Amino acid sequence: MYSIGIDIGGTNTDIGLVRFDGLCLAKSNLPTNKYNDASIYVSDICTRIKALMSENGIEAIDGIGIAAPAGNYYTGCIENATNLNFKGIIDLPKLFHEHIDVPVVVSNDANAAAYGELVYGGAKGMRHFVMFTLGTGVGSGIVVDRKLVHGKTGGAGELGHAILIPEGRPCGCGRKGCLETYTSAVGICRTTKELLEATPDYDGPLSKVNPDDLTSKMVGDSAKAGDPLAIKVFEKTGYWLGIALANAVAFSGPEAIFLMGGPVKAGEVLMKPVRESFKKHLCFVYDGSVEVHVSELPDNDAAILGAAALTKA
Ligand SMILES: [Zn+2]
Repeated sequence: MYSIGIDIGGTNTDIGLVRFDGLCLAKSNLPTNKYNDASIYVSDICTRIKALMSENGIEAIDGIGIAAPAGNYYTGCIENATNLNFKGIIDLPKLFHEHIDVPVVVSNDANAAAYGELVYGGAKGMRHFVMFTLGTGVGSGIVVDRKLVHGKTGGAGELGHAILIPEGRPCGCGRKGCLETYTSAVGICRTTKELLEATPDYDGPLSKVNPDDLTSKMVGDSAKAGDPLAIKVFEKTGYWLGIALANAVAFSGPEAIFLMGGPVKAGEVLMKPVRESFKKHLCFVYDGSVEVHVSELPDNDAAILGAAALTKA
């Protein structure tokens, strides 16, 4: 009836008590970056879980789902995460089982988002879909026959690092031209800076912002307010993303593609060019068979619901 969803981020860890129908009954959080010892960190999370359960009169949970950076579904371990203080291999199920004896399922945040959509969101009745999450990077989760594709090592679905533009923008992975360097929140800021440099006579709202302080939300808000430069940024972003979605369709033949994350909140200024580019670049054999949707998970609980949904995997 109830499960726990835990979203581990570099700064914060969010913990939620989730009912079978996707209602997040109660939440708690911890500052991830204040911990250097993973066993103390997990012990404190378990104390919070027990408090959430007793405060809500819940005596038993079915499982604990965890979305973690570099989280490996097969091993349950966080493996050499670059943005956490915990170095090396962290065996989460082993650490949790010292305190709470229920199944513990681990994956990365994009895979968790895909499962959240499948179990609680807009993909409830679907068999095949792809989730793209736009944030600091771009993640993806591929669902085929209602199962997440994990691949040989657990690393399947890293479409953010599929190369979109050969020899394009440098990526954190060490290569050039990856999708995420163009369509992540950071990529949107890079495009904005490029356009600002190329348009010296522009004097709209974004010209008043120190380029280092730019955020994709500022660009999205300016685009929604009708600023031509910001609109152009989203037209370019949507064009690039549409190509990536069309390529994803050729890969797994989904019924739908879902988009989630901060930049998606810009709404139609992003979604209209995405759909146009998607339609333009989709191979004709898929015409009319694939829809592009915005995630239906509630913004504030999406990450917790995704993690909790892993327990239904
Ligand atoms: Zn890359």
